[in-house]
Amino acid sequence: MSREHLREYLKGYRESWTICMQCASCYYRGPIVPHNWRELPPFEWASPHRKCPSYEYFKFRAFSPVGRGNLASIVFDDPNFPITDELVRVVYTCTSCKTCSEICKAHDPWTIIWALKEELIRRGARLPNPLPKLITNIDSYGNIFGAEKPPAINMNIPKKGEEILFTGCFIRFIQPNLIEAIVNIFGKMGLNLAWLGDEEQCCGFLPGQHGDIQRMEMQAQKNVKRLREAGAQRIIVSCAHCYKTLRDYYPKLVDNFPFEVIHVSEMYARLIESGKMRFARRVEEKVTYHDPCFLGRHSKVYDEPRLVIENVPGIKLEEMDRRRKWALCCGSGAKAVYFCYPEFSSAISRERLLEAKEKANNLVTSCSSCIFQMDRAAKQNNIGINIYDISQIVARGLGIPSIV
Ligand code: SF4
Ligand code: SF4
Repeated sequence: MSREHLREYLKGYRESWTICMQCASCYYRGPIVPHNWRELPPFEWASPHRKCPSYEYFKFRAFSPVGRGNLASIVFDDPNFPITDELVRVVYTCTSCKTCSEICKAHDPWTIIWALKEELIRRGARLPNPLPKLITNIDSYGNIFGAEKPPAINMNIPKKGEEILFTGCFIRFIQPNLIEAIVNIFGKMGLNLAWLGDEEQCCGFLPGQHGDIQRMEMQAQKNVKRLREAGAQRIIVSCAHCYKTLRDYYPKLVDNFPFEVIHVSEMYARLIESGKMRFARRVEEKVTYHDPCFLGRHSKVYDEPRLVIENVPGIKLEEMDRRRKWALCCGSGAKAVYFCYPEFSSAISRERLLEAKEKANNLVTSCSSCIFQMDRAAKQNNIGINIYDISQIVARGLGIPSIV
């Protein structure tokens, strides 16, 4: 198996694009009501009035799912079609939120856009800044930031073991206290997590999601080799981007991928359901929950984070209208929108934070990119809301003091 396998998979989607009916449901304002709506709870069928974040911001059809899909068919059909910077901007302002793929009943528009990105890279497209630099940082330093070493951790975490925490660039370099929290939580449950530390490499999400499948494969090979050497059987992941990459793409890119990949929220839910995780402290707060795109729509993990939050005594979970498969992107936009189009990114975050603020002063989520993006946007836009990772809430409920 290799990147050719993933390319074949994307090629299959190219062919499916021919069945787009140009119905405009994926971006045009208004509800989508499925034929079996009476059997479904409202949050399952009541799609939001505003659907595609990039179309809503840029207001031209080219920036909609179908607009990008039409560009994809032109590019796929014409090997000499000019790959201009404007074409690249239209394609790379897709946030990868995948809302369009929930709406479309004909095929999967987001995957067409991913296949288009892969085609643009193959034809030598000039990527928006600073994407090329972030990608070369991975080659030189093993992380997107180009940092020599991650910040020091105040605890000794073994480098080998059957259960290995995979942290990713954002947690390693920006939120290292989360590593201590997660290791402490599992330690309290009798599970000794290992962590590769300096040996861990960027998972390859950023290049891979933006069309550079070859680099994602290179990162997969490096990480899998180290995980094997460390004796891993199960990989526990907190960042939703890393989780999707390791769970769904690594097995397509690497021969013999024997590991179970599990998100921290899924592990916490299992521990709660088996009676092993019992909360000792009350957390008297009203919170709302933001579904990260790559944990929710891309990976279909909706129930576990909610089960965890609702089991922490004292917490009241107040849901936003746009939740689960209809949740609005946080603005990170698979990291590229955050790095390359900051004004657009901030506008999405502002909309999401104001929506959250109508429900609670505390927002919980399960992805390091969402936390980083929304924290920054809350400060920029002067929106008084606390942003928490789900592990912080669990640590508080267990009375673990390190990060509260
Ligand atoms: S992508 Fe799907 S929802 Fe959008 S116009 Fe085509 S058929 Fe309709
Ligand atoms: S993935 Fe999201 S931003 Fe991209 S075209 Fe679909 S709805 Fe729009």
